[in-house]
Amino acid sequence: MLRLKNVSAQYNMLTEYVKAVDHVNFEVRKNEIFGIAGESGCGKSTLLKVMCDLINYPLEISEGSVEIHSTDKNGNPLVYKNGDIHKSWWKIISYVPQGAMHVMNPVTRIKSQFFDAISKYHDKKNKKELEAEIAAYLKELELSPEVLNAYPHQLSGGMRQRVLIALATFLHPEIVLADEPTTALDVIVQRGILTMLSRVQKKMGNSMVIVSHDMGVHYQITNRMGIMYAGQMIEVGPTEQIFTNPQHPYTKMLINALPKVGDNSQKEGIPGTPPSLKQPPAGCRFAARCPVAMDLCRTREPARYEVGAGHFANCHLLSDMDIAAEVERHGA
Ligand code: SF4
Ligand code: MG
Repeated sequence: MLRLKNVSAQYNMLTEYVKAVDHVNFEVRKNEIFGIAGESGCGKSTLLKVMCDLINYPLEISEGSVEIHSTDKNGNPLVYKNGDIHKSWWKIISYVPQGAMHVMNPVTRIKSQFFDAISKYHDKKNKKELEAEIAAYLKELELSPEVLNAYPHQLSGGMRQRVLIALATFLHPEIVLADEPTTALDVIVQRGILTMLSRVQKKMGNSMVIVSHDMGVHYQITNRMGIMYAGQMIEVGPTEQIFTNPQHPYTKMLINALPKVGDNSQKEGIPGTPPSLKQPPAGCRFAARCPVAMDLCRTREPARYEVGAGHFANCHLLSDMDIAAEVERHGA
């Protein structure tokens, strides 16, 4: 459906580059929710922009390709590549940006925001018909059609997020990308948004990509996921495998930091900070924070190893499973 091959992207700051995405490879399959996790600043949002062709200066793709595979009306294969993907916006791929308040025009009613975004792509219909169709869709998503007459500030944060999801999915795109859809919302509202996203996905049978720093979000709704660290995707696999059998030391630390039922012990964050993306270190980018780093880790970048069916991780320890088992015994 959507494939990234060896994609690198950077912010061109004239005197220096911030390499926000480094040689990322993965695919999003039909009819799945794919999650992208990692601490803030690890390149998740940039990666999402790259996926939907929102490439504006100073962001640029320096290497690799993004491809979307679809079919036309007659069932013939249709491929969009980076540079062209924006031509498929709304109908094939759509994007729910982060920060529901800031992306809406504060002085325009929700109705006009729908019209502005959609009318260009919608088969010729008069305004009344289109409005009736939008209202019916909002109802389907358990949103009162009255929100169409509201201004963004008259809606709660959760409601604005729901409106954005409704807008992004109204034309039934095959892929929906959502950047931190639950951030800054309280827990109950978050749960409502996640339920809405997975309901929409099931109903449309399309694909979704959810970026979130919150591992709980991934646990609740994603089928497969990737973990990013300092611009690289260091582990990819079925969500259930990532949570029950994480392989990269960073993923293990992320999972161990999660509160568990019945365990009242204080959870620690991961000590240290990620490296600068202006001059990332040689070798493994996690080495400075990795409790099991070896000399080799500081000089040579680890390869990607398949550690289970469709489960990959980039760590030198995995080149020799005996060493990995050793570390497991001593607790990585
Ligand atoms: Fe740790 Fe080395 Fe693996 Fe990097 S390659 S995660 S430093 S053990
Ligand atoms: Mg972000």
